[in-house]
Amino acid sequence: MGKILCERHGGSPIAFVCDHLAAEVCAQRAVGPHAEYVVELDGREILRHQYCPACVERLGLPTPPRPLNFEERDLPASPVCARCYRDAVGR
Ligand SMILES: [Zn+2]
Ligand SMILES: [Zn+2]
Repeated sequence: MGKILCERHGGSPIAFVCDHLAAEVCAQRAVGPHAEYVVELDGREILRHQYCPACVERLGLPTPPRPLNFEERDLPASPVCARCYRDAVGR
């Protein structure tokens, strides 16, 4: 897991989210419904991506979510501060 330098939290874990969720997190607004996709390599979780329903539809992601394999990790996702993200989800 890499780190991100957040204005509010300093060095923080990274959460990978779609642009729409990233915009909500950056604006410090509550994040709406979204789906979480674990990305696995050799059966081990290496990343988690979060997508809003529009992106799930647009990218043809599986519903209900299943773990994605390593080849699918290049799906578009923006890195945001995981602590900001958690704040936005918990709001
Ligand atoms: Zn989205
Ligand atoms: Zn933060």
